[in-house]
Amino acid sequence: MIETLEFINEDFPWFFTSLVFVLGTIVGSFLNVCIYRIPVERSVVFPGSTCACGQPIPWYHNLPILTWLILRGRASCCGAKFSVRYPAIELLTGLLFLASWLTHSPVVAFIGMLYIAFLICSTFIDFDHMIIPDRFSIGGMVIGVVLSIVFPSLHGIDGLPIVENIQGGVISVMGALIGAGLVYWIAVLGEIVFRKPAMGEGDVKFVGFIGAFCGWQGAVFAMFGGALIGSIVLLPILVIGRLLGKGAAEPDAPLIDPVEGEEEEETVEFGAQVPFGPMLAVAGLLYFLGADRYVDAYFADFALSFFGR
Ligand SMILES: [Zn+2]
Repeated sequence: MIETLEFINEDFPWFFTSLVFVLGTIVGSFLNVCIYRIPVERSVVFPGSTCACGQPIPWYHNLPILTWLILRGRASCCGAKFSVRYPAIELLTGLLFLASWLTHSPVVAFIGMLYIAFLICSTFIDFDHMIIPDRFSIGGMVIGVVLSIVFPSLHGIDGLPIVENIQGGVISVMGALIGAGLVYWIAVLGEIVFRKPAMGEGDVKFVGFIGAFCGWQGAVFAMFGGALIGSIVLLPILVIGRLLGKGAAEPDAPLIDPVEGEEEEETVEFGAQVPFGPMLAVAGLLYFLGADRYVDAYFADFALSFFGR
């Protein structure tokens, strides 16, 4: 069985690669449902997808990306407009799963796909509701520690059985504690300096989750890299968005659920409304998908110059 799979992988490298991409788009389709329903405490399984008009969406109109392209962004039942965000999240998930597959060994790649799925859900829920649900941050942290014990290769550890499992667990727990602790103290200091909460409790737990999967270097990078990425990329976009007015982004109708009232309330002043989670997630993603080499080397250099030889 394994030999057959290895044979397929060697002779048809595109086979698993495209399979992983398709898997990613299917998972992305499910993540759309999670992003939409979990914050409003609804089951992600029942009922199945329905259109905003109440009609159930048949499976052949629920194909990732394809449906949106074939129906040109409109519902087949009533012609309601589907948000471009649905196919965009499916495509994003497909591409990131592909990136995980191409940069890691199969086992670590699949763990990475779980990590990516959690990051995507947390990011878009944070965009929509300014919260990161505990089941993603704390739940993800616990899953990260368990996976690190069972598969220590996640942290590049390869040694004696049991010893390597303990090492994996220690790295993961340390990553979660250092990550969460760092953000906690930055949040406390930020509140003293700026006299308003700079980061939420959700961000503290979220960086703990990143640390559980990526170790303390990944968590520290998520914090500072995220702040840097945020100020370079996201802030200008948000400022331009404010200047152009909110109207441009509004007309997208919800696909799965017509009940939606929160968007109107989010007209609080700019500055208090920038979610930090997405920036943490982008940095956490970059770390996992290749930046880890440079970041780890930087920390090693830093430690060397700090503590001497
Ligand atoms: Zn409809």
